Amino acid sequence: MRIKNNFYIVITISILMIALSITISLINYMVSLRSTEADLKTRSLPLTVDNIYTEIQKHVIEPNLVASMMAHDTFLQDWLINDEQNSDKITRYLETIKNKYGMFVTFLVSEKTQSYYTHNGFLEHLSPSKPNNEWYFKFKKLQGDNEINLDFNNNLDNSLIMFINHKIYDHNYHYVGATGIGIKVSYINEMLKRFRQEYNFTVMFLNEQGEIVLSERTDTKVQNISAIPELNLLMDQIIVKNSRIIEYQKNGETYLLKTKYIPELNLYLLVEAKLDYFIQDVRQTFYINLTLSLIATMIIVLIIVRMIKGYNKKLEFMARHDSLTRLLNRNAFNDSMHDFILLSKRNLTPFSLIFFDIDNFKIINDTLGHQTGDAVLIRIAEVLKTRLRRTDIVGRWGGEEFTVGLINTDLENAKQIAETLRKSFEEDAGLLHLCASSVTASFGVVMLSADDTVDSLLSRADSAMYKAKESGKNKVEVKPF
Ligand code: GH3
Ligand code: MG
Ligand code: MG
Repeated sequence: MRIKNNFYIVITISILMIALSITISLINYMVSLRSTEADLKTRSLPLTVDNIYTEIQKHVIEPNLVASMMAHDTFLQDWLINDEQNSDKITRYLETIKNKYGMFVTFLVSEKTQSYYTHNGFLEHLSPSKPNNEWYFKFKKLQGDNEINLDFNNNLDNSLIMFINHKIYDHNYHYVGATGIGIKVSYINEMLKRFRQEYNFTVMFLNEQGEIVLSERTDTKVQNISAIPELNLLMDQIIVKNSRIIEYQKNGETYLLKTKYIPELNLYLLVEAKLDYFIQDVRQTFYINLTLSLIATMIIVLIIVRMIKGYNKKLEFMARHDSLTRLLNRNAFNDSMHDFILLSKRNLTPFSLIFFDIDNFKIINDTLGHQTGDAVLIRIAEVLKTRLRRTDIVGRWGGEEFTVGLINTDLENAKQIAETLRKSFEEDAGLLHLCASSVTASFGVVMLSADDTVDSLLSRADSAMYKAKESGKNKVEVKPF
């Protein structure tokens, strides 16, 4: 019954503690998840957008201003209007601009003659039939005054160049040509790559139509974000002038998108973060927390089980033993004797009982004090333990009365054992030392008969002991049946 109760207590405590650790870990996880998401939305993404904007300003806006300045330069306008005389002048102009601002290429196209000049001088006549020249005829038709164009230029060492093209108008606002600069975009590519590698952000620049004007060179060649169905649905939220955070799902994963319009380039900056990547750490922490708290729970439960076991053992011992002498108490002795009597009767083996009482114990108490009396009782128990066999059962019956159950022992043997005990007490140095004189006891010895019970056996032993008392104490008396 008690063991069952303990089992339920341990199970209940374990379930409660496991539930508690899971709940705490889950709450932690949810809180971290929310704060990670909030941090991403309110800090990381906006900061990244600002960083990129600053970098772009450094790398693109300055060239754009240079290109714009060239387009508005009256020298260029006049030179085109005045029939492009002395191309050396324009070569020098383009070369100076190129060197001054560290551009990769500076160019000028005359609408009238379709001539293409660079900082190296006249290069070619443009023609709509040449694939390399397509850009110019497209640009001419463009509504705006400028564009940013990513292009491989065969004439310019076949690398990816970002061209910033500006239209040139005469005084009457007639289109007369185009000018601009080209910069190698490898470092922009590097920058976008860095943002992907360090922060796992995908960065791209879109024009009004949603075309990807600038993005990291990857294998996927998406030309327009409208090609991505999930983003196509959000076009009217992405292509807007005010910066915002958009959350959307793609292939079962959550993405956060921060947008910002860059007026200087008339482009929309998009920074995309895959939420899952940022909550990986949080998830890992959750698993570690959970594992650690479950291990801690297990350890605590084990400690509780051990404590309960130890406590039970102590309780059990205390219930069956006398606290002073640590011998069996009357109840436990009776129980044991009951079992042994049954066993002896069944096996027809002899069983004997010694009942003894310390002589004049009251005097010991009265003259030497209760503490010495206790010490005498303890010493008596020690002597009993050393003199008796492990199979004998020894109990403190009460006060200064003791009982010894002798298994497989007939009356004669029992009498001898009682005699040995009597002598041992009388001669024991420990007892002599405590009381300054011999401590003696009177013994009654009986053997189990066929119709004996525990009580009848004890009663006979008790009366044998009284007989020993009456006949002068420090004696062994036998009561056969
Ligand atoms: P007798 O020789 O006839 O047995 O005389 P007695 O003095 O031994 O017997 P009596 O029954 O008159 O006194 C027993 C005393 O033992 C009385 C009681 O206070 C004392 N006693 C009982 N239990 C303890 C105990 O645990 N410690 C101590 N110190 N004394 C105890
Ligand atoms: Mg007594
Ligand atoms: Mg006594």
